[in-house]
Amino acid sequence: MKITALTIYQVDLPLEHPYWLSGGRLKFDCLDATFVRVDTDAGITGWGEGTPWGHTYVPAHGPGIRAGIDTMAPFILGLDPRLLLDVERAMDIALPGHLYAKSPIDMACWDIAGQAAGLPIADLMGGGSRSPKPIASSVGAKTVDETRAVVERYRQRGYIAHSVKIGGDVERDIARIRDMEANRKPGEIILYDVNRGWSRQQAIRVMQATADLSVMVEQPCETLDDIAAIRPLHPAPVSVDEALVTLQDAARIARDGLAEVFGIKLNRVGGLTRAARMRDLALAHGIDMFVMATGGSVLADAEALHLAATIPDHAIHAVWACQDMLTVDIAGGRGPRNIDGHLHLPEGPGLGVHPDLDALGAPVASYRVT
Ligand code: MG
Repeated sequence: MKITALTIYQVDLPLEHPYWLSGGRLKFDCLDATFVRVDTDAGITGWGEGTPWGHTYVPAHGPGIRAGIDTMAPFILGLDPRLLLDVERAMDIALPGHLYAKSPIDMACWDIAGQAAGLPIADLMGGGSRSPKPIASSVGAKTVDETRAVVERYRQRGYIAHSVKIGGDVERDIARIRDMEANRKPGEIILYDVNRGWSRQQAIRVMQATADLSVMVEQPCETLDDIAAIRPLHPAPVSVDEALVTLQDAARIARDGLAEVFGIKLNRVGGLTRAARMRDLALAHGIDMFVMATGGSVLADAEALHLAATIPDHAIHAVWACQDMLTVDIAGGRGPRNIDGHLHLPEGPGLGVHPDLDALGAPVASYRVT
C-alpha cells in the first residue's frame, strides 16, 4: 500500500466561550484547525487533525502545521502508511523537531492502518479497554464564584473530572482551591492546572498554603528545572504536561521523580506513535496519565481516546472533549460524544470517525504522487 495524495483543509473552530490562559497570556475565541486527508492506492483514506490551543499556549502554530506538511509532503508520498516507524523517520529527516506538524500525518496513517486491519486503532496498538473514560472539564481562569458556576454547569452534564485553571494570583488561587475542595463531590477527580503560570515563589506559597488538602497540581512552573527546584518544598502530587514534549523529557521526569502524572497531549508530543512510548515509560515507573488532544474536533478527541484505551484503567485519570467547547461540528454528530460525562471507544476500524467534506470547505493545499 502506498500514499498517493495528501489533501489539506483549514477550518476555524469557534469556541463557545472565549478562553483566557493564566499568566496574562492572550485571550482567544477561535481555534485554527488543520485536517489532513491521506489517500492510498488501496482505496483506503485516513484522516488526521492538528489543532493547537491558540498560538500562545505552547510552541505550536496553526499555519506552521500547514507549512510543515508542505515541507514534508515529498518525503511522505509513496510510503506505506501502515509502516508508522518508516513514516516517522521520513518526517524526521525532512524536518527535525516540529512535532505538532507531524502529529496529523501520524494520526491519518494510524487511521489507515486500523482500517486495513479491520481494527479500532486502540486494538491495533495492542488492545483497548472499553471502560468509558471520564471527560475532564476545562475551567478557565476565573473568580471563586465564576469557578463554582462553571464547574456546576459541567456537573449538570455528568462530568466527574475537572481541570481547574489557576495561576498568576497567589491569594486568589488559594481561595479558589479551598472553595473547590470544600465543595468537592464524592468520587470527583480535580486537577489544578497552572499552565506554567506561577513563578517558583508563587508555586511554593500556594502549594504550601494548601498542603493540608493534598490536591494535584499540573505544570506549576515554566520548565522542568523550575519544577525540580520547588519539588523538595511542597508535598503536592504533580502532573507535567506542557514541559513533556519528547521521550527524553519523559525519561527525565520519571528518573528524577519530578511528577506522579503525565499529561500527554497528542499533538504536542507528535502523535500516537511517540505518545505510546511515553505511555510505556510512565507505566514502567508507576506514573499515571491524562490523555488529551491539544484542542480541536471530535477527530482529535477520538485519537486521544484510542491511546487512553490502551492504558490500564487504574492508570488513566481522564480524557478531554474539546468538541464540547466548540460551536461547530465537522462530523455531523458521529464519533465519540459526551455520554453522562464519559467518552466511549468507537468500535469502527481505524479512528472510527471521519469529517463531513462539506464542513471542511475547499482544500488549501494538495500533494500527490506524480
Ligand atoms: Mg494542562
